[in-house]
Amino acid sequence: MAICPVCGLPDELCMCAQIAREQQTVRISIDSRRYGKTVTVIDGIDENDIDINDLAKQLKNKCAAGGTAKDGRIELQGDHKKKVKAVLEDMGFTTESK
Ligand SMILES: [Zn+2]
Repeated sequence: MAICPVCGLPDELCMCAQIAREQQTVRISIDSRRYGKTVTVIDGIDENDIDINDLAKQLKNKCAAGGTAKDGRIELQGDHKKKVKAVLEDMGFTTESK
C-alpha cells in the first residue's frame, strides 16, 4: 500500500491532493489565435501539487479535444470553457473565468 510522503497516511485516506486543489484558483480563459482558431486556456495550476500532464489528459478526454500542457498552463483546442469549468469544479478545484 502506498503511503503519502506529505501526511504519512495511506493513499486512500490522504487528502493532500484534494486540499491542494481547493487552495488553488485555476483560471479559465478563451484565447483567439490567428486564422480564427479558438483555444481554451487553463492556467494558475501549481505543478508542485498537481500532475499537469494527467490533468490535461483528463480534460482532453472529457472535452474530446486536442491540447497541450506546459509551464503550469493547459491549452485545449476549441471553446470548452463551460465544460472545463464543470470538470475542474467536480475535481475540487476553485475556478475563475475571465
Ligand atoms: Zn497526504
